[in-house]
Amino acid sequence: MSAAEALLELQRIDTGADQLRHRREHLDERDRLVEATAQVTKWESTRQALLARIAENAEIVERAEAEGQRIDAETARLNAQMRTVIAPREAEALQHELETLATKRAESDEQGLVALTEQGDAEAELVGHLSAEESIREAARSADERLQIAEAAIEAELDELERRRSDTRALLADGLLARYDRIRSKIGVAAARLTGSRCEGCHLDLSAAEVDEVRRAGDDEFPDCPQCGRMLVR
Ligand SMILES: [Zn+2]
Repeated sequence: MSAAEALLELQRIDTGADQLRHRREHLDERDRLVEATAQVTKWESTRQALLARIAENAEIVERAEAEGQRIDAETARLNAQMRTVIAPREAEALQHELETLATKRAESDEQGLVALTEQGDAEAELVGHLSAEESIREAARSADERLQIAEAAIEAELDELERRRSDTRALLADGLLARYDRIRSKIGVAAARLTGSRCEGCHLDLSAAEVDEVRRAGDDEFPDCPQCGRMLVR
């Protein structure tokens, strides 16, 4: 392989590796995994919210029951007292208290009933929600697996390019490689072919005198393109 061929081959390999690395950074598989993971997180927070709603309403039901029992005991106590009362004003006051208690009891029962219904609704919703768990977790697992496969395929290609890269660099002189690396670090593509009077790196035409100068250069000399500074290969 001539120095010119080796230089262009090295450039092709480096460009190919740049593209692979770019592809690795922008894999659709990674976006899919991010989406699938977000679904799992959302699923988990909905489950937490449902469990909290169930617990909250169960507590209201329990409180309403305890309150009902307390009211019943108080009512029984007042009823017993009523049987011993003789003065009409006292009886009237007791009667009023009993009515107040009955109203409270009805309110407490109503609250308990509303909470019980709400708890039942949340429990039914939770059953449906839990049934989706496996498919959501499986989607995240398989998205993760697909990303790993895609990354491994790119890694394998990069390894292969790295092998070819060192073989190709071994064919080129140190000074030439240093210049190539310097230009590449600045503008990405360091070597470009001169086709007619056009630099394939910047797609600009060189003057006749500039083309002449490139043509007169030795076989392992690669003058800079006067427009873009790339190493011109003829
Ligand atoms: Zn150029």
